[in-house]
Amino acid sequence: MRATGLAAISVVSALAMPAVLGAGALGPSAPSRAAVPRGLPLLPLAGRTVVLDPGHNPGNTDHLDEINRLVDVGNGLKPCNTTGTSTDAGYSEAQFTLDLARRVRVLLLAEGARVVLTQDGDRPWGPCVTERAAIGNAAHADAVVALHADGAAPEGYGFHVILPAEVVAGAADTRPIVAPSRSLGVTLRDAYAAATGEPFATYLGGGTGLMVRSDLGGLNLSKVPAVFIECGNMRNTADAARLSAPAWRELAAFGVALGITRFLAAPTTDESGAEAATDTTSASASATTTTTTTTATTDSPATTSPPSGGVD
Ligand SMILES: [Zn+2]
Repeated sequence: MRATGLAAISVVSALAMPAVLGAGALGPSAPSRAAVPRGLPLLPLAGRTVVLDPGHNPGNTDHLDEINRLVDVGNGLKPCNTTGTSTDAGYSEAQFTLDLARRVRVLLLAEGARVVLTQDGDRPWGPCVTERAAIGNAAHADAVVALHADGAAPEGYGFHVILPAEVVAGAADTRPIVAPSRSLGVTLRDAYAAATGEPFATYLGGGTGLMVRSDLGGLNLSKVPAVFIECGNMRNTADAARLSAPAWRELAAFGVALGITRFLAAPTTDESGAEAATDTTSASASATTTTTTTTATTDSPATTSPPSGGVD
């Protein structure tokens, strides 16, 4: 608990916000704002809900029939889930994402957030990408971050954040979440880069560290702000060494938690100066007036077809 408290203070200090660790803040469900004793400042994420989605599942490799079943992501059919990639030494993406999610959870709970994981090593496989999205929606999450590491060509390195494209098809309608997800993604990108020193991906995104994709069920079906982060390239030797090191993963967790916290604690602007709508009502209103919200600034990521890695 001591280490948890210190880590939380570090995140909060980075935000220049008061740090008070109230009783119950580290429990599975943060106290509501109304429950905070009078006279004490609120933790920065009190009353907020964050869903962390650790990509894949270590058990997926033993359940190929189940995960290969096709599911409807609105604009097409995708496998329920995939096995993910791994380093040459055999450290799997699924192990990485679960470890990272647990580290991020510690930090966010200490800031007062309610944190939900889509899987916590507590199920034999999956869940399907459709269920992952449904978990974020059912939780009425203020932010959803899916954690992944890429399996790109070995010469490429660096990380990138994936933003939802505008998709209106079947059960998918991302129009209300495109703008707030972009704000979340840019904030997360900057915090993660600062915390880890990891460069923006060299092999996609045009050097922006951002991609927009329309093929990921976790984004297509989300009704709340959602992004993916591909934390590095597991097929690259230098990235693999970092991703495999527990101390580096703690830095990565700090970066993810800091990005989420900055997004939730200061939701009124993002670095582009655009209004960052964090509730779906205002986001929806803005989405009805423009269809080019992701292409208007110098941070515009490449809008492309899916890269070689980065399946969900
Ligand atoms: Zn993945």
